[in-house]
Amino acid sequence: MTILADEQATLKVGRELGALLRPGDKIALTGTLGAGKTTLARGILEGQDYDEEVPSPTFAIIQQYEPPETRIPIAHVDLYRIEDPEEIPELGLEDILTDGAMIVEWPDRMPDSFWNDALRIDLEITGEGNRRLTWSAGRAWEDRWPLT
Ligand code: ADP
Ligand code: MG
Repeated sequence: MTILADEQATLKVGRELGALLRPGDKIALTGTLGAGKTTLARGILEGQDYDEEVPSPTFAIIQQYEPPETRIPIAHVDLYRIEDPEEIPELGLEDILTDGAMIVEWPDRMPDSFWNDALRIDLEITGEGNRRLTWSAGRAWEDRWPLT
């Protein structure tokens, strides 16, 4: 458990995490609207050396980032608007994992087993500007998370 005292703290954790990303990585971000999932994803992309605006993928559903703008390909995904789980396979999400990583908001739209090896981060609003970060990490994250 980590307390994120302000938006900068969330961005900092994101940057450190982004620097550690490897192809095949899955990051699942849960928490209510406004909890800071997209903010954390922005930090992750900054940690991948991305230096432009990171829009919320709420409407596009998937935002793709590719080298040389990022170090490895990254798919930033928001499944909030997916109502029918049958729409998910056609997004082709898994394709990114061959040489890139995915960051997914509202991951509960997918089968839980998909996230077995993922880094699952939950953000909870604990006050004005305050967030509580909790996590569970699959084997793939053994040497990388929690951050030291
Ligand atoms: P989500 O993607 O979970 O809906 P966003 O990241 O889009 O959330 O929005 C989070 C909002 O909460 C932003 O307006 C941000 O400025 C604000 N905020 C306040 N404190 C924090 C914090 N500690 N971490 C992240 N965001 C915070
Ligand atoms: Mg969001």
